[in-house]
Amino acid sequence: MIKNFVEDIIFSIKNKLFSSKYVIKGKCKRCGACCRNILFSTQEGYIKDEEIFKKMQKKYPYYRNFKISGIVKDKKDFQNGALTFECKFISKNNKCKIYPIRPIFCRDYPNINPSLIYEGVTMLDGCGFYFDIDKKFKTYLKNN
Ligand code: SF4
Ligand code: SF4
Repeated sequence: MIKNFVEDIIFSIKNKLFSSKYVIKGKCKRCGACCRNILFSTQEGYIKDEEIFKKMQKKYPYYRNFKISGIVKDKKDFQNGALTFECKFISKNNKCKIYPIRPIFCRDYPNINPSLIYEGVTMLDGCGFYFDIDKKFKTYLKNN
């Protein structure tokens, strides 16, 4: 109980610190890479096993909208070994076939949880968006 409480406080502080520190800049180049390199995680971490994904597809029909597209291969990356997934609604010319009713995650992207930035999540190679230090935060550092 106390452990959870402390963890929640640390999480909240981290979020506050990093949400004020980073801003997302740039614009979408419509390359479709984010719809073809999706990572899914469970309580045990990122999905690295095809059999686990098949079980998830059986249990939750939503996951049938995705197929395995590859695997993260970078020993320095904490996501190393994670399977990547492609959404079945991405067209060959990188258009979302269900754009008006696309899920909230797609609408929000790339506004990811600031704590993920802290954990080392970066934009996909070639993505038109990038993380930058918030000017207000730079000014704050200069003046304090
Ligand atoms: S990877 Fe970046 S540039 Fe490419 S479609 Fe996704 S958001 Fe746009
Ligand atoms: S629903 Fe559309 S925007 Fe979302 S991952 Fe699939 S193709 Fe991309």
